[in-house]
Amino acid sequence: MAGDDAPVEDPYAPGELPVLRYAEEILQAVRTNPTTVVIGETGSGKTTQISQILHRASATLMPDSRMGVAITQPRRVAAVSVARRVAHEMGVKIGTLVGYTVRFEDCSSRETRIKYMTDGTLLRECLEDPNLSKYGVIVLDEAHERSLNTDILFGLLKVLVKTRQPALRLVVTSATLESEKFSAYFNDCPVYHVPGRVYPVELAYATEQPKNYAETALETVMDLHCSQGRGDILLFLTGKEEIERTCRRLNERVREMPEDECPDMQVLPLYAALSPELQARVFAPPPAGCRRVVVATNLAETSLTVPGVVFVVDPGFTKQNEYDPTTGMDSLKVTSISAVQARQRAGRAGRTRAGRCFRLYTREHFELDMPTTTVPEIQRTSLVGTVLYLKTLRIEGLDVLDFDFLDKPDVEAMGDALRQLYALGAIDEDGAVTDLGREMSPLPVEPQLARAMLAARRFGCVDEMATVAAMLSVERVYTGNGPPREGEGDGDGDRRGPPPESLCSEHERRMGDHVVLMRTYQAWARGGHRRDFCERHGLSDRGMEFARDVRKQLLGAICVGFCNRLARRLPKHNGFRTLNDNAVLAEVHPSSARPLANEITGLLPEWIVYHELVATTRVFLRNVCAVEAPWVAPVTERLREVDLKRLSGGRVATRKAREEEARRERAKEAERQRIES
Ligand code: ADP
Ligand code: MG
Repeated sequence: MAGDDAPVEDPYAPGELPVLRYAEEILQAVRTNPTTVVIGETGSGKTTQISQILHRASATLMPDSRMGVAITQPRRVAAVSVARRVAHEMGVKIGTLVGYTVRFEDCSSRETRIKYMTDGTLLRECLEDPNLSKYGVIVLDEAHERSLNTDILFGLLKVLVKTRQPALRLVVTSATLESEKFSAYFNDCPVYHVPGRVYPVELAYATEQPKNYAETALETVMDLHCSQGRGDILLFLTGKEEIERTCRRLNERVREMPEDECPDMQVLPLYAALSPELQARVFAPPPAGCRRVVVATNLAETSLTVPGVVFVVDPGFTKQNEYDPTTGMDSLKVTSISAVQARQRAGRAGRTRAGRCFRLYTREHFELDMPTTTVPEIQRTSLVGTVLYLKTLRIEGLDVLDFDFLDKPDVEAMGDALRQLYALGAIDEDGAVTDLGREMSPLPVEPQLARAMLAARRFGCVDEMATVAAMLSVERVYTGNGPPREGEGDGDGDRRGPPPESLCSEHERRMGDHVVLMRTYQAWARGGHRRDFCERHGLSDRGMEFARDVRKQLLGAICVGFCNRLARRLPKHNGFRTLNDNAVLAEVHPSSARPLANEITGLLPEWIVYHELVATTRVFLRNVCAVEAPWVAPVTERLREVDLKRLSGGRVATRKAREEEARRERAKEAERQRIES
């Protein structure tokens, strides 16, 4: 092994990244081909450098200076972290020239020309602008991950580069990839291999399969730490809880050992749900004389490059989502990684100097039992959202069963998705998207919840449903560290965490988890969204903040969907004026007014959305829900924009539309009266 005491430094200082040495070749390929595939070792600079290379050449690459480069990432964490890094490298403020957009967070502006985003965000942009006309080059990064969204983008962009030729270029980048398969799929496009600088990695296998891999991993790390010279250790585990527990135990073990037998150790967890600040710690050097141990999910496999790693400990497992269309069951399972992943993991040890990888499984297991490649997500997930999405795009003559996927999904999963969408009322018997389906599509939750949100409008409980939907979107709300329940020991943090009893009544608890979730959120919100509240009641602070974001976006989306059903309260009393073209003065129907009013002033909220405007003895707004001014702002702004633009030619059309609307309202009212009488 190359001298244990050799200084550990990152040889890929900026300017030396392998991708940069091939900048001209890559550019030339992109200029002359609609699609280019670039394959390069992890850490070679694909994600951070290719965007900058393309941007520097934008004058000759893009027909319009307003166009930019979009780079997709399957993981939200990676999109944010890399965008920050690139902004830093270019010496600009994040959100200006370099920005990012991920679900629930947009940090980009008109100035942005290099935009990192999740693949899901780009799909959503497609709904508004099917030509993606803002972009001159789109980079689909981390293609080897084969995330569901990236797979859909392959199919869509394959068509789009043709229709927008030559104004749009596609670059597909990946760490490892079956290059022939990709090239064939993209009409025999060229494939670039960027040779990475890697040092040899010595592999060690277990002599027998471990009984408890987490336990074996812990022992292996401790052994390495006490017996090996310098060099950081990277341990791959499957999820947050396992990682946190292992970090805790590593720290305990080091504390227990006599100082002269055990040098200092800095233990850092790394997983997607960790806050960005805590994640960033892996990029800063460890304290002097201290060995760093990073305990990570497969986030550290290819998306994020942890510097300084010389030893990799690979138990060979990962957590994967699996969906069974026959039972409709979704499960997050700990499964064996693929041989491709095993090689990736080992490669992480050879970036700084010669390294070693300790595989906690046998050589036979690696050679005989491990799947060669990972099954793409599209073949192991529910397709309800995907099918609704494709149908909403209104691609002419599209038969979703015939969509040009790189790997076709299961026919059974497709059938399951179509049936579910039909049952939800999102598509009709002919498979066409209904109005309802169209409204569901942009909502940032799974179709089932989106449908429930829309149904909630009719019952006047949009606000409550948004809360429930948001809370259901959180991976883990309760930490299990709350006040102990009767019959249980004190919270040791390992419990799954039952909902705290302090947050809702016994009666509500009997009504079920949805009500408990809702009450939990409401209690947190009433207390001002405070962190100490979470600690006291055993709630996950990040989880609750996430729910808050989802809720905000859901209600925002409902606002947009209801742009002509918004009303604003008159100053100082409870009359409302509707916001649509022919503003009407109305009052909130007595059946729903009270719960919304401020207890002290008796005033209703300033902004509401309503489901119906009915004229009986007076004009009433029925089924209302409070919304906040910032959610309304984009809607009103948009309305204002349209009016200005249409001042010249659009008047007639607008009046016509108004008359049409009025006619429809009258017909509806007549129908209603007919039913009532
Ligand atoms: P690739 O996409 O080919 O895996 P990257 O462009 O992500 O490579 O990384 C290139 C280099 O930039 C690596 O040495 C990596 O450690 C460094 N790097 C990437 N992101 C960050 C960050 N957020 N902070 C510090 N260094 C980073
Ligand atoms: Mg990358």
